[in-house]
Amino acid sequence: MRLGYTSPCMNETERLERRLLRDTARAIEDFGLVEDGDKILVAVSGGKDSYALLHLLSRLRERAPIHFDLVAVNLDQGHPGFPAHVLEEHFRSVGVPYRMLRQDTLTIVKRLVPEGGTSCSVCSRLRRGILYNAAVEMGCNKIALGHHRDDLIETLLMSALYAGRLMTMPVKLRSDDGRNVVIRPLAYCPEEEIAAFAALMRFPVVPCDLCGSQPNLMRKRVKTLIAELSAEHPAVKGNLLSALSRVVPSHLLDRDLQKRLGESAGPDPWLDVEAG
Ligand code: SF4
Repeated sequence: MRLGYTSPCMNETERLERRLLRDTARAIEDFGLVEDGDKILVAVSGGKDSYALLHLLSRLRERAPIHFDLVAVNLDQGHPGFPAHVLEEHFRSVGVPYRMLRQDTLTIVKRLVPEGGTSCSVCSRLRRGILYNAAVEMGCNKIALGHHRDDLIETLLMSALYAGRLMTMPVKLRSDDGRNVVIRPLAYCPEEEIAAFAALMRFPVVPCDLCGSQPNLMRKRVKTLIAELSAEHPAVKGNLLSALSRVVPSHLLDRDLQKRLGESAGPDPWLDVEAG
């Protein structure tokens, strides 16, 4: 799935597509996300990220040296005015096999989350469960989600700042019940490139506020912080992503990790920081 360099005569859409395909192919290779014979459920919510995910995986499928299948799946969670037909028309027009699901999780979320609270974590947990079951029922061995580079770095900071844990969304993870493997092929793709590409492609984006949920203020704050830091130093986002793949375990305070590492010393990261 290796891709060549961008030609100067390409238009903006082609240029962005090329870059996003390259980043997606790199994540797939680095983490072994797609294998011969896979049948992948692509979760398409109607947002720019999941439309882009479906597009990029379809394009890679056309040129991949291995065979894998894709099934686009949308879940209508019962939000008032959710235009499921828009997604169905899109799936038809791009010629991808698809399945439309409908399950009213909104009522459950309303019952569980106090008025004015942020419903997203309950809502996505319910959605994930439904998608896991659908994947098994449809014979899909993997579920692809549209989280991108900015989701990963925001989650890293949120986890460190508000939960005291150094972690982010996994790029590849077997679900707790062992029935599914969740993959995030857009892990290296910058959100701004996905947004620009989605606009140029005129994906029929469905607004994410139909549920009436309050925005997650912590995520918003972290997003703003990263944007401010990036304005001062444009490499900040890329550096945060790199930090996730250049961990120096011997210089962290995780005692279990230390036990596993024994006495072995790692490189001195201060040298890198000072040099950077
Ligand atoms: S924005 Fe609404 S639909 Fe989306 S995850 Fe949050 S609660 Fe669910």
